[in-house]
Amino acid sequence: MITHDIIIIGGGLAGLRAALEAHNRGTDVAVISKVHPIRSHSVAAQGGVNASLVHDDSWEAHALDTVRGSDYLADQDAVEVLCREAPERVLEMEHWGTLFSRTRDGHIAQRPFGGAGFPRTCYAGDRTGHNLLHTLHEQVLRARIKIYREWLVTRLVVDGGRCTGFIAMHTPDSKLEAFRAKATVLATGGYGRIYQRSTNAIINRGYGISLAYHAGVPLQDMEFVQFHPTTLLGTNILITEGARGEGGYLYNNRHERFMEKYATGMMELAPRDIVARSIQTEVDEGRGFDGGYVQLDITHLGEKKIEERLGGIRQISIDFAGIDPVKEPIPVQPGQHYSMGGVSCDANGATPLEGLYAAGECACISVHGANRLGGNSLLETIVFGKRAGEHAAGYVQETDVQGENAHLDSLASEEQNISDLMGGDGESFAVVRDELRSVMQQDVGVFRNQAGLQKAVETIRELREKGRNVRVKSGATSFNFELLNAIELKGMLELGQVIAKGALAREESRGAHYRTDFLERDDEHWLRHTLAYQTPEGPRLEYKEVTITQFQPKQREY
Ligand SMILES: Cc1cc2nc3c(=O)[nH]c(=O)nc-3n(C[C@H](O)[C@H](O)[C@H](O)COP(=O)(O)OP(=O)(O)OC[C@H]3O[C@@H](n4cnc5c(N)ncnc54)[C@H](O)[C@@H]3O)c2cc1C
Repeated sequence: MITHDIIIIGGGLAGLRAALEAHNRGTDVAVISKVHPIRSHSVAAQGGVNASLVHDDSWEAHALDTVRGSDYLADQDAVEVLCREAPERVLEMEHWGTLFSRTRDGHIAQRPFGGAGFPRTCYAGDRTGHNLLHTLHEQVLRARIKIYREWLVTRLVVDGGRCTGFIAMHTPDSKLEAFRAKATVLATGGYGRIYQRSTNAIINRGYGISLAYHAGVPLQDMEFVQFHPTTLLGTNILITEGARGEGGYLYNNRHERFMEKYATGMMELAPRDIVARSIQTEVDEGRGFDGGYVQLDITHLGEKKIEERLGGIRQISIDFAGIDPVKEPIPVQPGQHYSMGGVSCDANGATPLEGLYAAGECACISVHGANRLGGNSLLETIVFGKRAGEHAAGYVQETDVQGENAHLDSLASEEQNISDLMGGDGESFAVVRDELRSVMQQDVGVFRNQAGLQKAVETIRELREKGRNVRVKSGATSFNFELLNAIELKGMLELGQVIAKGALAREESRGAHYRTDFLERDDEHWLRHTLAYQTPEGPRLEYKEVTITQFQPKQREY
């Protein structure tokens, strides 16, 4: 059995920032991750991170943009924390070594981003996540924080109403081990890969979120799934909003800048939910190109600017679509991108389960409400990663580690679960997974309606039955990817069910959740958060109030 004061599950930005903070506060902290930390999805972030750094901007303006962007579902006290602490966290990253792009006079350069009234997105070319993650990884190495790499956490251990650690599998030899901790921090990222078309890394299966769900923690606002307007046709690799921030145009097959019809003021820089729906509408009504896409044109920016500010997406377009954006428009379509919902927690990362914290994309605090603004998610990882590390460190000073017996019991039952999965005739995980992805894409996508959502709920229920018969044919004991996929599939099916059920229940359109049978936002009945609890019959939904402080809900106009 391995024991630490605090163990952080996840080596992305939120996890590493939490680890560093807990370490700086004198606790014995370790990080555990299913891949090497710098392979976490944070590394792929392109466009930038928001902070009101200059005189003409303010945290209040940032907060107003965030709340409007969220379609008024964000908790405004949490948004205040996010926007107030942003400048300090971003400058701290710079002091630790992040190579932000610069203005002519040497300040951190900031670009316009969707839904923002001010250019406040700080960037490092279009490789911002790469720069930030390497900076934090260096700091974690420098602090000599223990990192357990290539361990998949398979379940949390709860003893006497407290989370006392977890069970994890070491993928190089498939051995299970119990980890005990006074506090556990979930920083496991999003679940993009339960959709067919996603910008997310293939490791983003949301298993961390389902760990909390199993431990009795509610999942919040899971029906709010962000679809990014511009993903590369074919692979759905992200083409950053920075491309539009730098002045890119969207065209339909009649060479019209169609955003004029949908968001006359902000055009291509309207929030993501609006741009994604506009593109989908153009395609659905026959004004897209064959194959279901529109064009993103940045040719007029010129090679120098493209190389300097958008070099990464130029390379991606050349490598994956054979198109050089300096010469031709990029074919783009919407794809799943981000999970606004997640493990319910407060602005200190504390979940309702004592000893369990959450931060980053897996958490729902909620600062993004029904629709996240670009650049606010990287910000969330460093602001709330720090806060979770800080509060977990405070908590462990007054707590003992418990639950040795509970760990041994959990270890034994997890060993049994895994041996039940192995061998024999059964379903292939890939068949069930692909069916899940397809129903999520078709019926729980950009546009939703009752019939489709009911079908999705029913299909996923059947898939969960089928999922019980999944068996692993490969007997490999080292890096058995079939086994890892089979383990995580269970969580994917559960999250799909929570998302579809929450979306079916929510009879309104708000932010990224758009019902063609309930076109209006309905504050009277639905200005509230969804909480999904696990039960043997599937998710049980409850609701809770949204915190409103300074911004009263208004109609969004862009
Ligand atoms: C292509 C792309 C571009 C983006 N660009 C931007 C941008 O420009 N600006 C912005 O604000 N946001 C952007 N985002 C969103 C943002 O990057 C992410 O929300 C954020 O980086 C998530 O960080 P995280 O630390 O929460 O999770 P991740 O970076 O996803 O890390 C999750 C970690 O958890 C570990 N893990 C997961 N499950 C387990 C388990 N069961 N056991 C052990 N370990 C586990 C993984 O190994 C990994 O280390 C982008 C996202 C994508 C996909």
